[in-house]
Amino acid sequence: MNSMAEEMCPKCGNPLAEVTTTPSGRRLQRCSTGSWDKEAKKNVGCDYVKWLETPPEELDEKCPKCGNPLVMVVTRFGKKMKKCSTNQWNAETKQAIGCDYVEWINGTTEVLDEDCPTCGNKLVLYTTAAGKKMKKCSTSGWDAKTRTATGCTYVEWLKPGEYVKNEDHGGEEFLPPDPNA
Ligand SMILES: [Zn+2]
Ligand SMILES: [Zn+2]
Ligand SMILES: [Zn+2]
Repeated sequence: MNSMAEEMCPKCGNPLAEVTTTPSGRRLQRCSTGSWDKEAKKNVGCDYVKWLETPPEELDEKCPKCGNPLVMVVTRFGKKMKKCSTNQWNAETKQAIGCDYVEWINGTTEVLDEDCPTCGNKLVLYTTAAGKKMKKCSTSGWDAKTRTATGCTYVEWLKPGEYVKNEDHGGEEFLPPDPNA
């Protein structure tokens, strides 16, 4: 394959535009006659989008299962996971091959200067991997063995806009699905 050759849109025959990167780190190429209308929040012109493989970022961490390096992978909706670099998807057999170790990266937690209305301990602001935010009690936890919540169960989900800047996702959620996802 000659990567220097200009690629043509299979839908309308015009050349594809330059590669762009979405806020969640996915790479895509639109048709040069298509664009994202921020005000109308819709595609104008040709809506062909070609998703490009994002090269996984190799981490300085070893797989706990087999000792090979781990890689960081970003899914289409910006969720992150670490997986074993020996893990690959065989498109022909539709089966994963290699080591199956996967570790989802969960959100972040920051301690707030607010007391829990239920028990009086500090609240923490929890941001999920998908960017949703909630306040929860710092004593709350999750017992993976018994699959039950532990500690205080106070939770307050935040409406979009509270603590959150309205992030412009460039209409990523309106794009056609990633055929490789
Ligand atoms: Zn096109
Ligand atoms: Zn492994
Ligand atoms: Zn509490």
